[in-house]
Amino acid sequence: MLHKEYGRTGKILGAIGCGGMRLPHPENPEEGIAILHAARRAGINYFDTAPYYCDDRSEAIFGEALRTMPPAPLPLYVSSKCSRPEAAEFRRGLERSLERLGLARIDFFHIWCVMDPADWRSRVDGGALAAALKAKEEGLIGHVCVSTHMTGPEIERMLADHPEIEGVTLGTCAINFPYRLQGVQAARRLGRGVVAMNPLGGGLIPQHPDAFDFIRGPDDPDVVTAALRFLVSDPAITTALVGFSSVAHVEAAVRAVESFEPYGPEHLENLRARIQQDFNEMCTGCGYCLPCPQGIPIPRYMDVHNLMQLGASADEIRGRLKYHWDMTPAQAAECVECGQCEARCTQHLPIIDRLKKVAAFRM
Ligand code: SF4
Ligand code: SF4
Repeated sequence: MLHKEYGRTGKILGAIGCGGMRLPHPENPEEGIAILHAARRAGINYFDTAPYYCDDRSEAIFGEALRTMPPAPLPLYVSSKCSRPEAAEFRRGLERSLERLGLARIDFFHIWCVMDPADWRSRVDGGALAAALKAKEEGLIGHVCVSTHMTGPEIERMLADHPEIEGVTLGTCAINFPYRLQGVQAARRLGRGVVAMNPLGGGLIPQHPDAFDFIRGPDDPDVVTAALRFLVSDPAITTALVGFSSVAHVEAAVRAVESFEPYGPEHLENLRARIQQDFNEMCTGCGYCLPCPQGIPIPRYMDVHNLMQLGASADEIRGRLKYHWDMTPAQAAECVECGQCEARCTQHLPIIDRLKKVAAFRM
């Protein structure tokens, strides 16, 4: 497998990381443990978990798996997270994660789920960042990182302002990469690691292979392989974090990037341009429609509309709004139809009509 250094930490990670958010039947840890062990045997060395994943059992399953992990050539690194803005609560969260994982130190610990710049400010002013840095000094954390849903320019600003943050975990994939591209590129320029979460569009790509077939190149056997190769070819992306729910998923993801020569910069640029061009009728998340005078986060609502276009179930749409974006449909109804966003949209999308459709969705 391809390997890259995580920022300037000296830690070398495999191009595919193991995400612990989709382990099946968490009430039966043996299944999850078998998946984590298979990932280790397949050469994966970045293992990411968090509180609340898998009915709040993921960290404990990781703890069990770590105690009996098969040996492998590269050191193994564990990542977890805490979303509390207050220093004392953040510290308690870290201590609970350490206990559940059975570790004296968590290699990559994230200030978790930063939604926007105001939210980031609350993590700084509330003391979470200071608490993380203190824990690093004490040896309880290897590297202080941030997991975020902010836009590319917002991520760039945060990284430029805070050299103490050693890397970011952010959502990016072949079908929404423009939304955070500026942040990903800034991370590389500033020497920070990047872990790409949701590399398969939160399951959208494997669930709708025909709709996304346009991302597949002539040498890609399937659309999932194409999506993973697209990410791991980017020198700015250290690891693509795949949430495995079976041993077969582990094997397929590793196979996709095994004995694969990453695309060069020119090929990657052509691929980006082609994907954007072929993205007919769907929002690419580029963010050029912003700002909205009403403060509506248009790309986030358009991302939800993408799901509607693909025929996603009401539960999938609800989950995207609630758990991925932490939004309700209500703000979409605040559009005053000024038309500024539609004039700027790179895909010439009927944003106003689409916002109405999302606003009408019943949670
Ligand atoms: S049309 Fe609506 S969503 Fe677009 S910029 Fe104007 S108020 Fe915002
Ligand atoms: S609505 Fe248009 S401009 Fe806005 S993020 Fe989507 S594709 Fe880009």
